[in-house]
Amino acid sequence: MHTLNCAICYSNAHQLLHSLNDGELVTCQNCGVVAFTPRPTPEELEAFYNNGYHDRFSESAMANMHFAQNRYQFLENMLHRYAPKLAVQTGRKLLDVGCGTGDFLQVAQQAGWHVTGTELAKDAVDRASQKVGNHILQGDMTEIYVPDGSYHLVTSYHVIEHLLDPIAQLKRCYDLLIPGGLLFVETPNIQSLGARLKGKNWSHIIPPEHILYFSPVSLRHALHRAGFDQIVVGTSAPQIVESIVHWPWALKKLAGFIYQIAPRVGLGAAVQALAFKQ
Ligand SMILES: [Zn+2]
Repeated sequence: MHTLNCAICYSNAHQLLHSLNDGELVTCQNCGVVAFTPRPTPEELEAFYNNGYHDRFSESAMANMHFAQNRYQFLENMLHRYAPKLAVQTGRKLLDVGCGTGDFLQVAQQAGWHVTGTELAKDAVDRASQKVGNHILQGDMTEIYVPDGSYHLVTSYHVIEHLLDPIAQLKRCYDLLIPGGLLFVETPNIQSLGARLKGKNWSHIIPPEHILYFSPVSLRHALHRAGFDQIVVGTSAPQIVESIVHWPWALKKLAGFIYQIAPRVGLGAAVQALAFKQ
């Protein structure tokens, strides 16, 4: 076994989950997070993301306005349920970490939020700025200068699974929130029905792009480590199940039904957490 220390809880007790062509996925026996090993170096990751990453991303079905609107609607429903004051407040400020090309921020801005985004890639920063104005900061959000206590809400969609040190980023999110502020995190669910059925062929197993794979339990653990102690965790159905787009109608209907049921028992394709700063 490797002498890998867990990026979430620093334990070195882990168990093989899947052997892949270029490494292994191992499950931390303490916190349950699944990690790719060997862990890439920061230099390897930088080279990977500088190689036209966002061009590929913007071609995928995930990157369109309809998707962003659904994403925003889901978030707003969560706020109405768990933070009703914030759901209607004026002058509220939102930071989206890893905002990509800015579709979600554009929808949030139209809904009345003062928006800021952070993003690593220059081309994505430019595209996002065209949509929401000069509110996109380029760079690693742990290194960008923003005063602590600036935001009512911080969102992080499908970012945490890419990080070498997610705890550092979650702690920074905590610091950036006002007291009573909220962090919303979404990431693929390694305990999902799809992940269980497909094993190592699950579509989200794509190292070095995805280094860490969370479940409701391990995401809660990570948020706890970062200082949050009031946390709501759930899972949701995918909006677009890309792998069944070409299936026959009847099978699609059946799969659609299963995917609607799955979130109720924690098997949904994505895991979401809403964490409160006291
Ligand atoms: Zn761990």
